[in-house]
Amino acid sequence: TITTKDLQRLFVLIAEAIAKKRDHLCELDGAIGDGDHGLAMDAGCQAAAKAVGELDPAQTAPTAVFNVAAKAFLNAVGASSGPLYATAFMRAGAAAKDKQALTDDDFLRAFAAMAQGIQERGKAELGEKTMFDAWRPSADAAQDSWRSGTPLAACFDAALQAAHEGCEATSGMTAGKGRASRLGHRVIGHIDPGAASAVIIIAAISKFAQ
Ligand code: ADP
Ligand code: MG
Ligand code: MG
Repeated sequence: TITTKDLQRLFVLIAEAIAKKRDHLCELDGAIGDGDHGLAMDAGCQAAAKAVGELDPAQTAPTAVFNVAAKAFLNAVGASSGPLYATAFMRAGAAAKDKQALTDDDFLRAFAAMAQGIQERGKAELGEKTMFDAWRPSADAAQDSWRSGTPLAACFDAALQAAHEGCEATSGMTAGKGRASRLGHRVIGHIDPGAASAVIIIAAISKFAQ
């Protein structure tokens, strides 16, 4: 099972992974946006890891961990990614149903709920060159693998592969949402920064699930 302590470790893994790629994410956003995506994700993930790390695991259920992460992320980020990930973490918390520890099935549901939250908050459709183009196929791959009896670690291998492919595919797209949507065909040939940070987060989750 996955406990609050495990989730505290997960948020540290995510924050470390994003911190390493902060400048790269800013460069990607500089090409088709306003150049702050690495700073935004770094600030959000550091704030989430810190807030979650301060919780007493004996007193805090996973649902509350995700809710605290959502609030910290939202407060730390003044960019579009703020409300998108805050909603994602809130939905993960709701999927955790106030249980004291999460089964693999609960954890997969929480992961799928993140993609759903991003979809509902951002209203992006597939092919609009956003983080959703990484999250949706990734969550679907994880769920499909899980339904066919694949162990959790391998489900997240599939999720990471799908996220990676989804991210690469954004290069060929024009944008339907976000700042890049104002630039028309000029954005073709550039991958979406939000899809790139999604791959980093999903890679950290996959590493955690091994
Ligand atoms: P901002 O554009 O406000 O500076 P960020 O740089 O943090 O915000 O994030 C930009 C990323 O947010 C984009 O690369 C895209 O992936 C994602 N994004 C923007 N709008 C949406 C949306 N409506 N739905 C999903 N993702 C979105
Ligand atoms: Mg930006
Ligand atoms: Mg910005």
